[in-house]
Amino acid sequence: LSTSDPIEDHRICVCVRKRPLNKQEVARKEIDVVSVPGKGVLLLHEPKQKVDLTKYLENQLFKFDYSFDETTSNDIVYRFTAKPLVQTIFDGGMATCFAYGQTGSGKTHTMGGDFSGKNQDSSKGIYALAAQDVFTLLSQRRYSSMGLDPYVTFFEIYNGKLFDLLNKKAKLRVLEDGKQQVQVVGLREMYVSSVKDVIKMIEMGSACRTSGQTFANSNSSRSHAVLQIILRQRNRLHGKFSLVDLAGNERGTDVSSNDRQTLVETAEINRSLLALKECIRSLGKNSEHIPFRMSKLTHVLRDSFIGENSKTCMIAMISPGMGSCDYTLNTLRYADRVKEL
Ligand code: ADP
Ligand code: MG
Repeated sequence: LSTSDPIEDHRICVCVRKRPLNKQEVARKEIDVVSVPGKGVLLLHEPKQKVDLTKYLENQLFKFDYSFDETTSNDIVYRFTAKPLVQTIFDGGMATCFAYGQTGSGKTHTMGGDFSGKNQDSSKGIYALAAQDVFTLLSQRRYSSMGLDPYVTFFEIYNGKLFDLLNKKAKLRVLEDGKQQVQVVGLREMYVSSVKDVIKMIEMGSACRTSGQTFANSNSSRSHAVLQIILRQRNRLHGKFSLVDLAGNERGTDVSSNDRQTLVETAEINRSLLALKECIRSLGKNSEHIPFRMSKLTHVLRDSFIGENSKTCMIAMISPGMGSCDYTLNTLRYADRVKEL
């Protein structure tokens, strides 16, 4: 990997990150079906069967802006994905970074990091790393004179409804005014004076996200979490960085459940991920019509898909095991579709 700015001239950056096999997968002797032979290349070795039932692996090649193998740290992933977008919000633009993938593929690990090993740099996720860079830039002379103030919001979108993670999951309404400006009524926007402050908000919101759940990862895997770092200049919006830990995409292929609640959730997740794909593609094509009303997720992120100075980055997370092959293929195809043409 070189250290040149990866997405200088691009509005959309699409990357893929493979996590290591976990203990259980290793114990099950699961085969690793993903390899990363080069900078932007990824190979999936899909198990297939011939008519005579002999088994073989079919190689499928995918190309992205960057592909990160299982040895890559959060730090490096950050440097090539979200880091360049920090400049965008100082330039008065809108930036978004999405973590996409099946449950257990590493979305929260990448975005939120691992808070069980607090204070260790290696455990920091993109949220904290981006916050760190925001404060570094704020302290530089060319920006400190601009009077920019940083704020943070953190909310969850579950089943098409918004909940404030910085205010005890208070339910929020989304309104659109006559000028198509989208507003989330009552969303807590907290002033932050240091990286520590931001980390406190992330911890608070993350705890709120998983509280009251029987399984640590159950509801949270079916909701999108959005952390926003907002820069205001004398109360006027200057730039906004939205960091999105998306709902697990596996439900898109999982039709085995007949549970009504699950079906409703599935439909909603499918709708929002489809809408997201369409909106990012419109951004890439500089299209006039952006179908952001297709879902709550894209509706609240409307600002991110319009304007001259909007930039987006998607990190598609994949599990390496053979048992996840179908989901992995799904994720890779989705990521392939949002690439800028
Ligand atoms: P998701 O949010 O996509 O459901 P998680 O981020 O919770 O997935 O990851 C599932 C598990 O795998 C967690 O225990 C996490 O610490 C671990 N994990 C994910 N990505 C990595 C990685 N790149 N390196 C090491 N462990 C990882
Ligand atoms: Mg998660």
